[in-house]
Amino acid sequence: MSGESLGTDGKAQYPHRVVFNVKALLFERQGLENLELRDVDTRELREGEVRLRVTLASVNPVDILSVEKLRVSPMPHIPGSEFTGVVKEVGEGVENVKEGQKVAVYTRLFDGKCDMCMRGEQTYCVSGKRMGVEAQGGYAEEVIVPAINVFPSDLPEEALASLPIATLTPYHALRTARVSPGETVVVLGASGNTGSFAVQLAKFMGATVVAVTRKEWVKELGADYVVDYSHADVLVRDITEGRMADVVVNPLGKDYWDLGLKLVGNLGRLVFFGGITGNQTSINLGEIYSRHISLLGTNRGRVSEFVELLRLCRRCKVKVGKVFPLERGVEAMMEFKSGSRDGRIFIKVN
Ligand SMILES: [Zn+2]
Repeated sequence: MSGESLGTDGKAQYPHRVVFNVKALLFERQGLENLELRDVDTRELREGEVRLRVTLASVNPVDILSVEKLRVSPMPHIPGSEFTGVVKEVGEGVENVKEGQKVAVYTRLFDGKCDMCMRGEQTYCVSGKRMGVEAQGGYAEEVIVPAINVFPSDLPEEALASLPIATLTPYHALRTARVSPGETVVVLGASGNTGSFAVQLAKFMGATVVAVTRKEWVKELGADYVVDYSHADVLVRDITEGRMADVVVNPLGKDYWDLGLKLVGNLGRLVFFGGITGNQTSINLGEIYSRHISLLGTNRGRVSEFVELLRLCRRCKVKVGKVFPLERGVEAMMEFKSGSRDGRIFIKVN
């Protein structure tokens, strides 16, 4: 099947010598119903690339969006923006990893040369691409990635397959909000993909953490307080003696915007990313400036933060919801969409 190959660069591939075929979940037309498991050609490695045998991938809102709505390339397209694997082969000039090593994958491609990369802001690389959206993703038996995107690690598979999005996004948000020891951090959506890591990471940073959720198991993540949405206001008022939170994390979008504003105190920071309930809301400017609230929108994170997480996340717990084999990847995505999930949805590939 020439023309479908696992290169991440999105350019036309010329498999001058097809090595062998691998299975991948892909679609030619958008829509979950068009996602299917097919054989695709792989190709020889170029200089500076590595071939990974994907072991575990995760399902995130961005993956659903890539199958249904986002402008994706190349076509046919392989989704999967968060995954981990084992190095199967290294290309010429690759020195940072060896065959057989388990790796964490920074799943945003970057050139390492532009002004944004030089500032360490790889998320905003001028020629950057998200694997699974503007480049092929990881819902495949194998994937080819630049060696600068992979980092050897012996973290558990579930933690590695949660690092590029679920862990990195809230870590960057908490760092951007400059959370310091002793501060009160409220996490909305605390049982979600990013929320469950926001709780743990804020705790590692020394904050007093209030996890807002309806799920009891969030207590195991180390939050100081776990509270239902309807009681969050009273609890936060109580434990802060009326001052309210220093930092509120909202990964949920517009439906929780007002609650987030209510829970943040004077001079506080409201940090937000992701719009799973929608992005459009209205803001009372007076409420923001009169209380000196900083609104911080954030997006994924830096390579430097990703590397920090390899050490920090030795203590991370991952709530596993359901695990599906690659051939049942469509079911995994439907399970994610159903809203009934409890813990992370994974796709076990190899
Ligand atoms: Zn760049």
